[in-house]
Amino acid sequence: MVTGGAGFVPSHLVDALLARGATVVAVDNFITGSKENVAHLAEHPRFTLIEADISEPLPSHTEALAKRFDAIMHFASPASPTDFAQLPLEILRVGSVATLQLLDRAHADRARFIMASTSEAYGDPLVHPQPETYWGNVNPVGVRSVYDEAKRFSEAATMAYHRFHGLDVGIVRIFNTYGPRMRPDDGRAIPTFVSQALRGEPITVHGTGEQTRSICYVDDLVRGIVALLDSGETGPINCGTEHEMTMRELAETIVRLSGSSSQVTFVPRGADDPEKRRPDLTLARTLLGYEPTVDPEDGLRRTIEYFATRA
Ligand code: NAD
Repeated sequence: MVTGGAGFVPSHLVDALLARGATVVAVDNFITGSKENVAHLAEHPRFTLIEADISEPLPSHTEALAKRFDAIMHFASPASPTDFAQLPLEILRVGSVATLQLLDRAHADRARFIMASTSEAYGDPLVHPQPETYWGNVNPVGVRSVYDEAKRFSEAATMAYHRFHGLDVGIVRIFNTYGPRMRPDDGRAIPTFVSQALRGEPITVHGTGEQTRSICYVDDLVRGIVALLDSGETGPINCGTEHEMTMRELAETIVRLSGSSSQVTFVPRGADDPEKRRPDLTLARTLLGYEPTVDPEDGLRRTIEYFATRA
């Protein structure tokens, strides 16, 4: 089971799982995802898409959900800054009630449970780059807290089931990931800049643009997640890349690669926006044999092409 299977990252994960022969049930309520992201799988004999809100009890009448799962991968959650403002209660529920419910189901099925956590668990980090041993610097009542704290709760719940019930679990802390199937209007930097560049509009960089992110092409991330699934490791394990760049550099690169005439401009920055972000990938490398391979310019080109064909 992949929750949120019609979303950006999880739909690529579904593709990878099907490609290696798994039978996959995706559960999604399309709150931020889209049927279109899995439309190419409509006729796939090993794929089932179920429309349901996983913060509610799972529909018991559905045949695909009545079977025992080998693995439950909890990827459902609105995840963009605009979602933090517009869907705060949905985010809290999917990171708490839904996580507990899915952990119960994994326990009943004796399934491996994979929790999609986030670099946001580190908040605005005071340690750089961030190793998994760093406990983070999160504002518990700030505008981003619904997401950060829901994911931290999910991690705590996952570890409690592991310690108390002996559940087989794996936690991945995902750093900024991009690629085809992102929503152009989701408020994250890459889809925003690419959409603006393709329309020839000003690129709206937040603040001075000196804040950094380390961007990861979705194929690399999915390889890491599948390696975690196979490994039996508990984690948490960071997954992403060390290609750290400032938001200004990112904007300029996107303008150049898309051949756009857009100007880079600066707008006010959101509260608690992290200053720096780069994973320490030592654990992923040593425990999972993980190594990201996609060059950022190649990944950005592929993403620009995807957005250009849909403009
Ligand atoms: P996304 O919004 O494209 O995907 C999330 C999916 O979950 C959507 O299809 C949405 O409709 C579904 N969903 C949300 N609430 C649901 C509910 N209650 N019931 C059923 N389905 C529900 O976002 P994404 O960027 O692909 O993120 C996927 C996961 O990866 C999230 O858990 C996110 O926190 C995590 N993550 C992503 C990134 C990133 O850079 N993209 C970074 C860190 C963590």
